[in-house]
Amino acid sequence: MQRSPDPLGSCTECGTSLFDVDVLVAYETDDEREYYAECPDCRTVVHPR
Ligand SMILES: [Zn+2]
Repeated sequence: MQRSPDPLGSCTECGTSLFDVDVLVAYETDDEREYYAECPDCRTVVHPR
């Protein structure tokens, strides 16, 4: 399991960067890893991009 300081993506609601610690669910698709994360700022569960 790789740990990276880089953000996974940004909140689609407010643009806050989302990190490993914010991830609720991670799952694999055909060729990439997808995440659902709770934004620490606006508390919305988003699909970071
Ligand atoms: Zn947010």
